Amino acid sequence: MLNKKSVDDINVKGKKVLVRCDFNVPLKDGKITDENRLVAALPTIKKLIADGGKVILCSHLGKPKGEPKPEMSLAPVAARLTELLGQEVKFAADANVVGENAKAAVAAMKDGDVVLLENTRYRVEETKNGEAFSKELASLCDVFVNDAFGTAHRAHCSNVGVTEYVDTCAVGYLMQKEIDFLGNAVNNPERPFVAILGGAKVADKLNVISNLLEKCDTLIIGGGMAYTFLKAKGLEVGTSLVDDTKIDYCKEMMEKAEKLGKKLLLPVDTTIAKAFPDPIDAEIEISVVKSDAIPADMMGLDIGTETAALYADAVKSAKTVVWNGPMGVFENPILAKGTIAVAKSLAETDATTIIGGGDSAAAVNQLGFGDKMTHISTGGGASLEFLEGKDLPGVVAAQDKE
Ligand code: ATP
Repeated sequence: MLNKKSVDDINVKGKKVLVRCDFNVPLKDGKITDENRLVAALPTIKKLIADGGKVILCSHLGKPKGEPKPEMSLAPVAARLTELLGQEVKFAADANVVGENAKAAVAAMKDGDVVLLENTRYRVEETKNGEAFSKELASLCDVFVNDAFGTAHRAHCSNVGVTEYVDTCAVGYLMQKEIDFLGNAVNNPERPFVAILGGAKVADKLNVISNLLEKCDTLIIGGGMAYTFLKAKGLEVGTSLVDDTKIDYCKEMMEKAEKLGKKLLLPVDTTIAKAFPDPIDAEIEISVVKSDAIPADMMGLDIGTETAALYADAVKSAKTVVWNGPMGVFENPILAKGTIAVAKSLAETDATTIIGGGDSAAAVNQLGFGDKMTHISTGGGASLEFLEGKDLPGVVAAQDKE
C-alpha cells in the first residue's frame, strides 16, 4: 500500500510551502480556454492558506524548452487564480523562475499569502532534473507539496529534484486521490475486479495488459487492439487494425490468462464497415457480424451488440472496475455504441469505477457519464504507468506517513 504523507499530516503555520501544481492549461490569445486544472488545484491551496502557510505555487505550462517564451507565461494563471481564490495571487514574473524578483516576492510574504512562480520549464535544467535548479527551488521553502499528478511519471526538478533538499515533502489532495484509486485500488481491489482495455493498438499497452491480467479477475479487451487478439486466435479479421508483430504477445497473454485462471473476454461480434470513416465523423454504412465471420475486405470499427451486452454484464457483477481506452471509433456517433454501452454499465454499477485518463476520460465526459464515475484520472501518461505497475518518480519522492 502507498501511504504518503499528505497536507493533512503536516503543520505549515508560518512556513514557506512550495506547491508543485499542474497548471498546464490550454491558452488562446492569452486566455485560458479550460480551467479545470486550476479548479482542481484549489482544495490543496485553500487548505494551506487556512493553515497559515506562505503558499508558493509553481508549475510548467506547455513546452518552452528551457527558454522564456511570453506566450507560455503563467501570468494569466495568476490572474484567474486570484479570482477563483478571492485573494491576490502575486505573480513573480522572472525569466529565471527563481531569480531576484521571485526571491523578493517570497521574502515579502505574510502568513496566508500566495505567490505564483514563472513557468518552471523556462529553465532548461527542469526536465533534466538538474541539481542547481532543484536547490534554487528548495531554497525558497521549508516544506514541499506535490499536487501535480500529470507529471508524476517524470523526474523533474520541480517534482523530484527539489525533494532532496527539503526536509518535509508531502502530497496534495489531488495526488492523494490518484494514489488511492489508481495505486491502491488496483493493487488491493475489492473483488471481483474487472479491467477493461481498449484503444487503438496493442503495442501501446503491452505492460498494462500484462500487469492488469495479474491483478484482475476478468480482463476485457475491445477497441482496435481486439483484432490482434482475434487474429492470434486464428480468426480472419479482414482489413481491421492489426499489429502483426504482436500476435505472439497476444497468444502469450491468452496462455497467461488460462494459467492464472483469469477470464479474458474478447469480442464475440463486431461492427464492420468497408473502410475507416473519412472524415472521422462521416456517415458510414455498418453491419454487425460474429467475430469469426469478418469478411476479408471489411474493417472492424466497434464491438458488436452481443459483445456490448456481454461486457456490460461482466461489469454488473464487479466490485472494482478500471477502464482505459474506447471500445471503438467513438468519435463517430455510429461507431460509439460499444463505448457508450460500456460507459453506461459503469455509470449504473455501485462498484468502484476508475477511468484511466487520456482519451478514455475525454470519452466518458463527452458522453455525459463523467459525474457517475468514482474517479477519473487527470493524468494520461502517469495513469498508464500506474496501471503498468510502475513506480512513479513523483510519487516515490514524497515521504511516507510517519
Ligand atoms: P489513453 O491511454 O490516453 O486513455 P486511449 O487508450 O483512449 O488513450 P488510444 O490508444 O489512442 O487512446 O485509442 C483511442 C483511439 O482508438 C480512438 O481515437 C479510437 O477512434 C481508436 N479506435 C478504437 N477502436 C478502433 C478500431 N476498431 N479501429 C481503429 N481505431 C480504433
